[in-house]
Amino acid sequence: MNTKDLAKLGITELCMMMINNSSVRKMAIPIIDNKIRKANTYDDETTFSAEKYAHYCFFRNLLRTLGKRMDEKLLTKEIQRKIVKNFVGNVMFNGKDKRDQAFEQESREIPSFITISPTQKCNLKCKGCYAASHKGSFAKLDWETFDRILTEKKELWQSYFTVISGGEPFLWSDKGKNLFDVLEKHNDQFFLIYTNGTPISKENAKRLAELGNATPAISVEGFKKETDERRGKGVFEKILESMVNLRDYGVPFGISVTATQKNAELVVSDEFIDFYFEKQKAVYGWLFQYMPIGRGIDLEYLVTPEQRLHMYQRGRLINEVRGYNYIDFWNNGYMSYGCIAAGRKGGYLYIEWNGNVTPCVFIPYSPVNICDIYRNGGNLDVVLESQYFSDIRNWQKSYGYLKNRADVKNRIMPCFIRDHHQEFYEITSKYPVKPIDEPAEKALKSKEYHKQMIKYDEELAKLLDPVWEKDFSNK
Ligand code: SF4
Repeated sequence: MNTKDLAKLGITELCMMMINNSSVRKMAIPIIDNKIRKANTYDDETTFSAEKYAHYCFFRNLLRTLGKRMDEKLLTKEIQRKIVKNFVGNVMFNGKDKRDQAFEQESREIPSFITISPTQKCNLKCKGCYAASHKGSFAKLDWETFDRILTEKKELWQSYFTVISGGEPFLWSDKGKNLFDVLEKHNDQFFLIYTNGTPISKENAKRLAELGNATPAISVEGFKKETDERRGKGVFEKILESMVNLRDYGVPFGISVTATQKNAELVVSDEFIDFYFEKQKAVYGWLFQYMPIGRGIDLEYLVTPEQRLHMYQRGRLINEVRGYNYIDFWNNGYMSYGCIAAGRKGGYLYIEWNGNVTPCVFIPYSPVNICDIYRNGGNLDVVLESQYFSDIRNWQKSYGYLKNRADVKNRIMPCFIRDHHQEFYEITSKYPVKPIDEPAEKALKSKEYHKQMIKYDEELAKLLDPVWEKDFSNK
């Protein structure tokens, strides 16, 4: 096939042609790149050009990095097939088209994915982790509930993407089933698994390679010193071993990083990016700023407003110029048109080990429990009807989601609980929501906590509002 023939194909077909054929790959990548660029230069009233460019860069980076990993023989054929079929085909196109249709025809807002933490159990005790906030037995979802959520989200919402978090997801088991059985049963979906990395033995890496529909995102805090300091002695070495196992078996992986006042500069440095993306061969990275929730709340860990600005500036360079997908859940809020919590269209919901459903991983307050809903004959659609979630979705709209550009507020500080804590507190206080653990209960009752969060937001806005105006609104 020549370039002219390839150019007539759609993106999914072109991606399929790239599998294990390096000469076709060389011709196909620039063609797909061009198609993505064109798809992101559409004319509309609601998207800033800098947002469109960021979308283009995201898909361009993904395409180029995966192409590179194929050339380096770091992705098995099965994984390449599943990435194209499940991720490109089902997640990016099929599911999205159907959800867009539901919105246009019935004004139904349907989330794109769910994050599930099936178990609270973990083999580590990291400082500031939102899991394992109290001692005692570890809660977990049973197999039937876990399986039903995954089945239902596909049937009702055409959602083919699931994020698994924890606790440590690889430690979940129930009635003789483990996480691999879940991946196997739902083999038309694609899974992103946040893991501390330590359970990825050779055997587990091999199993992931055979299944092909999951990618682990391994937590690191910097290099050895920073990672061991937060996660425990010897964890960094163990993580590097896990990365070797994943490379050996051809499983694509990413990194998951928590930025605090201590490591904020390091985790966006060139040295850090070179080590994980160039040397360890990560495909993507997620950057989370420390959120003062969960065990050992400490506002001193929050990155300062100045550090956050530095991370934003470095993040744009890393994504747009260096060409790596290293996405900051907050600073990159413009890529998702703002906050994605509470089951927003294109967004998500979080379900934890007791079945409590919360607006997002970082909002530990739940208006409904999926196990109760199932017991009472309901389904996932009932979750979306919660008035608390609906109020948050209305807040998102008042902040600019689906609005014309003139009515959009600062999307580099999009977070409902962290960057707009006053509004979060006012809305959350109206409902009898259940704090998912003791620290969340204490935080909600603490005047001092709210005062400090609101003060932080004021300082943040002073620094970031002019940046938003300059980088987005005025261009
Ligand atoms: S509340 Fe904050 S952390 Fe949660 S989805 Fe919205 S922006 Fe993200």
